[in-house]
Amino acid sequence: LTSITDEARIALANLTDFASGMIAPSVRLGVTGLSRAGKTVFITALVHNLVHGGRLPLFSAAKSGRLAGAHLEPQPDDAVPRFDFEAHVERMVVGRVWPDSTRRISELRVTINYESASHWNRRLGRGQLHLDIVDYPGEWLLDLPLLARDYARWSAEAVELARLPARAAIAGPFLAALEGLDPDGAEDETVARRLAALFTDYLRAARADTHALSTLPPGRFLMPGDLDGSPALTFAPLDVARDRAALPKSLAAMMERRYDAYRDIVVRPFFRDHFARLDRQVVLVDALQALNAGPAAVEDLRHALGDILEAFRPGRASWLSSILTRRIDRILFAATKADHLHRSSHDRLEAILRRLVGSAMERAAFAGAAVDVVALAAVRATREATVTRDGERLPAILGVPAAGETIGDTVFDGTAEAAIFPGDLPADPDVLFRQVAAGAAAGGAPAATASLAPDVSFVRFRPPRLERTAEGVTLSLPHIRLDRVLEFLIGDRLT
Ligand code: GDP
Repeated sequence: LTSITDEARIALANLTDFASGMIAPSVRLGVTGLSRAGKTVFITALVHNLVHGGRLPLFSAAKSGRLAGAHLEPQPDDAVPRFDFEAHVERMVVGRVWPDSTRRISELRVTINYESASHWNRRLGRGQLHLDIVDYPGEWLLDLPLLARDYARWSAEAVELARLPARAAIAGPFLAALEGLDPDGAEDETVARRLAALFTDYLRAARADTHALSTLPPGRFLMPGDLDGSPALTFAPLDVARDRAALPKSLAAMMERRYDAYRDIVVRPFFRDHFARLDRQVVLVDALQALNAGPAAVEDLRHALGDILEAFRPGRASWLSSILTRRIDRILFAATKADHLHRSSHDRLEAILRRLVGSAMERAAFAGAAVDVVALAAVRATREATVTRDGERLPAILGVPAAGETIGDTVFDGTAEAAIFPGDLPADPDVLFRQVAAGAAAGGAPAATASLAPDVSFVRFRPPRLERTAEGVTLSLPHIRLDRVLEFLIGDRLT
């Protein structure tokens, strides 16, 4: 008799699960940011903390004990690669190395069970929310302006930009290849491939640590996804006038055809099939890297963020607004890797990011969407401590610098813990942005590339060792302000 009752209970539970699965609401959360901003680490840490009951005091559902648990479930979209959560956790927790970064779009569904806060809802039973996280390179959003430009106009603008002082040196080989190349000459695959490669090298060099320039499409040239090497990615701008039509069979005509293909088979499908379906969005920003690289990089990051925001608030007459069926109603900008700073600088980092996106937000004129800004560390690789030096007590951060990192003459081997004096961010964002304006106006001069946070240490640390409790349970990944992020992004859906 007992076994029949059990079976009946299981059947009933399954039925309930099925029914609630049918009616459980879902939130599609986009996570984006330029390459190395911290998307992979962020998603892995967010999900790990949800699934393993992390310390989340500012997340009201967790604080009030209403969070009943979270688990992974098969994602709703069969054609999108799954975010490789388990492999990323394994690398971080077991290997204590950072996971492989985002190269393409991927998705993960976390299902959250919770007790409703309100008496009325509680009578309806336990609540369930599917959180569908969609990870995609921020570079892809920068392609949106291409939809409003034909090949000739894009070419003219791109070549003009490459000739600016801050870029001319890194664009040298590409610009040299353009010299003496006749856009009216016969189409030629070898020339197309060589130019595309040189143009890509230039875009990549602009992104590298020393320059940290970031604004340039085509996004797939930096993050090709599965399309690497295809003709739709084998084109480059030519030195042509904005309004000139390409001659049939010419090199310019070949480039134009491929540019059009890129827009049709790469850019539009991404916006239509993925972007247009998001409910909420996190934009991760490595502001510390830009501050370290100097005014030109900060100015450039500001432009890139402005371009990214255009996607969230497209003009009424644009193609994108015509296909948006739902609207993104919450957007969070997050400065990542705050564990490189002492606690006293977290609010300063937040203020700097607010200024960085502030003007872009005004330009994009957000109506309706709630926007917030936070400084966070998805994974906190350091601890704070006070170190006495020459009789003076100084705030320090302790962490294990990755193998090969250096401070002064010390080269780290990736095993020893070191105390580092992290330095301060400038207290007044106004002073900082005056420096940015002056430095950026200096063009390619050294002032454009002098670090804006020279005192801040930018050593790369290894991921932290996870502590075990007396019961042998491994605690979840430590973080800074991830709970505030969760509260803003989904708190209202768990009431
Ligand atoms: P993605 O390209 O946006 O996916 O960037 P990743 O998530 O792969 O992060 C790039 C690198 O930034 C990592 O390999 C880490 O070195 C560093 N990083 C990212 N998030 C954190 C963080 O929370 N704390 C620290 N200390 N480093 C981080």
